Amino acid sequence: MLNQDMLRLGAHQSAIRKISEIGKRRAATYGKDSVFDFSIGDPQAPVPADVKAALAAAISSPDKEGVHGYTSEPGVESVRRAIAQDVNRIYGTAAQAKHIYMTCGAAAGLAISLKAVCNAGDEVILIAPYFPEYAIYTIAADATPKPVRCAQDFTLDIAAIGAAITQNTKAIVLNSPNNPSGAVYPAQQISALAALLSDASRKLGHHIYVITDEPYRELTYDGKMPPSPFGVYDDTILCYSFSKSLSLPGERIGYIAISPTISDGDDAYAAIDGAARALGYICAPSLFQRALESCLPVKTDLDFYAENRKLIYGALTALGFECAPPNGAFYLFIKSPEQNAEAFCTRAAEKGILLVPGDEFDCPGYARLAYCVDREILAKSIPVFEKLRDLYFN
Ligand code: PLP
Repeated sequence: MLNQDMLRLGAHQSAIRKISEIGKRRAATYGKDSVFDFSIGDPQAPVPADVKAALAAAISSPDKEGVHGYTSEPGVESVRRAIAQDVNRIYGTAAQAKHIYMTCGAAAGLAISLKAVCNAGDEVILIAPYFPEYAIYTIAADATPKPVRCAQDFTLDIAAIGAAITQNTKAIVLNSPNNPSGAVYPAQQISALAALLSDASRKLGHHIYVITDEPYRELTYDGKMPPSPFGVYDDTILCYSFSKSLSLPGERIGYIAISPTISDGDDAYAAIDGAARALGYICAPSLFQRALESCLPVKTDLDFYAENRKLIYGALTALGFECAPPNGAFYLFIKSPEQNAEAFCTRAAEKGILLVPGDEFDCPGYARLAYCVDREILAKSIPVFEKLRDLYFN
């Protein structure tokens, strides 16, 4: 018999898939231009020219330089050294190559990190709304997800997190800038959380890890780096990805950085290494490791997203939709004008606008719009949003 949990996971038709089916049917009947697909966070800002040049150079290097060969399990040593320097520049830490593990995007980084820290029966706090895969990776690591609602403004509710800590709490996953809400957690909340977790770890007699998922690190709209627990709280594991910051989601490249001051020292890295082996996630793509080594400071065209954000947030709020102010990432979280957000998303899809119900992120009553798309599509969708609005507000 097949593994029934895996079968359920693979066969489950998510609301996203249902919405996308409506979109496909509409495209078949009325043409592609009648569908505005805002369902996926697939970044459309161009890949920076420096990255393309570095890739071209890497691919034309002689085979004997190993660009198509296996790397060492954690990744190419010189690449990890360069990333450690970049991490130190950003977070003010003292990381070395031995703290960096190259991964197939943040997805692999998260699955590895959770597997590395959790034992059967442990609990992992997830801040709702959250990226749905967190729960899947937590369960795959034999642990139990413990959702904790965010504050009214989608930042952290420190008191609620405190109340959710039990003897079994092993980790908390943070994601700022946040998918799906666009929230950026303020520095004082990060410090308050660090104090809370240090205190709880001492009382419980075991470490509580923070796994900070930061694929949207560069995507903030106030010109500042988002506050992070990395470099603030010792027991932090950072999962980063180049998917969004360099528009490379299909290339599957990112890294884990463990805090150089993590309590378990070298054992923590060894557990990351072990979990990566157990999950089959060793030797991240060699070509991209090498290409990125020379372009770590290169970033996407942030103006692309800033303009899109201005356009869609301005237009939808002017139409009367209530939206969480998006301070980072490239998502707009829209309050559903009817109680059932899935019904709202179905109505939107019938008009050609594909959104994702907040239920997918453990946050009913909202819908997520990914505005990382071509600006023309965004602009053309606004009259359609107006018709959608008329179904509710007129
Ligand atoms: N974490 C968050 C919050 C995301 O939104 C995504 C992708 O959309 C991921 C992790 C996974 O990203 P990747 O595996 O492409 O790096």
